[in-house]
Amino acid sequence: MLTGVHVAFLGGDARQLEVIKKCVEMDATVTLIGFDNLESTFQGVHLKELEPKILEDVDCLILPIVGTDEDGYVESIFSKKKLKLTEEFLSHLPKTSKIYTGMARQYLKNLTNDLQIDLVELLDRDDVAIYNSIPTAEGTIMMTIQNTNFTIHGSNAIVLGFGRTGITLARVLGALGAKVKVGARRPEHLARIYEMGLQPFYISELAEQVKDVDLLYNTIPHIIVTAKVIANMPHHALIIDLASKPGGTDFRYAEKRGIKALLAPGLPGIVAPKTAGIIISNVLTKLILEQFGDQGGN
Ligand code: NAP
Repeated sequence: MLTGVHVAFLGGDARQLEVIKKCVEMDATVTLIGFDNLESTFQGVHLKELEPKILEDVDCLILPIVGTDEDGYVESIFSKKKLKLTEEFLSHLPKTSKIYTGMARQYLKNLTNDLQIDLVELLDRDDVAIYNSIPTAEGTIMMTIQNTNFTIHGSNAIVLGFGRTGITLARVLGALGAKVKVGARRPEHLARIYEMGLQPFYISELAEQVKDVDLLYNTIPHIIVTAKVIANMPHHALIIDLASKPGGTDFRYAEKRGIKALLAPGLPGIVAPKTAGIIISNVLTKLILEQFGDQGGN
C-alpha cells in the first residue's frame, strides 16, 4: 500500500489516468496539478493550482510521458492553462523526493541536476520498453494496413534493429506470414534472428538487401535508410520509421523518389492509451512502493 505517500501529478494525457487510478487504489495521498478540466472523478483526490507551496510535502512528482519541452512547459490535455516547471517551483520539493517522467529533455535534466533531485526516466527501462513494444507493433501493423493495397502475409518485410521494439515487430510480422529479414550489427543478434526462423543480415549490407522489399521498418535512431538505400527499393515499397524523431530515414529523398515513408512516433499512446497507461502505472507504482512504501506502517 502507499498509505502516507504523497504523490503529485503535474499535467498529462489519458495514460496518466491509469496511474492516478492505481495510486488512489493503493491509498496514496494524491494531488493533481493542471487537471482542472478533468471529467473523471477520483475519490479523495485534491485538484490544485501550480503553486510552489504545494510541493513542500510531496514524495513523488509525476510528469507526463514526454516530461517538459525544451522551455520547461508541461502539457496537460486536462487544462488550458500554461504549466511551466520552473526552478522556483521545483526548489520547494524536498530533496528526498523523486521525479518520475517518461523521458526527459535537456531542460528537465539540467533543472533536476542543479537542484540535486532524483529523476527517473521510465521509458529508458527495459521492462517498460519491452511492454511498450506490444502496442508499438500493433500500431505499426495498423499503419501498414492503412497504407498498402497488399497483404502483410506473403510480403517481403525488413526490420532494421534488433532491440526491444525490433524483436517484437519482427516476431509479429513473421506470425502474420510475412517473409521477414532483420538487419542488425552484432553477430550474436544475427544468430538469434536465425534461431527465430527469420533471415538475418548485417546492416552494412542494407543497400543490397532492399531490392525486393515491400515493407521496410526502421527502429534504429540514426540515419540508416539513406538515399543510397532508397534508390535500390521498388517504388511500391512502404517505409515506416519508428525510431525517435527525426527517425533514421532520408525522408526528403524518399519523397523525391516517390516512395511513401512515414515517421510514426508515440504509437502506444495513440493506438492503446489505456494499455500504455497500465504499463506505466504497474511499473511506476512498484518503484514508488519500493522507495516510499509502508510509510503509514501498513
Ligand atoms: P533499443 O532496444 O535500444 O534498440 C535499438 C536497436 O538499434 C538495437 O538493435 C541497436 O543495436 C540498434 N542500433 C543503434 N544504433 C545503431 C547504429 N548506429 N547502427 C546499427 N544499429 C544500431 O531501442 P528500442 O526500445 O527498440 O527503441 C528503438 C527506437 O524506437 C527508439 O528511438 C525509441 O525511442 C523508438 N520507439 C518508438 C516507438 C513508437 O511508437 N514509434 C515506440 C517505442 C520505441 P545494438 O544492440 O547493436 O546497439
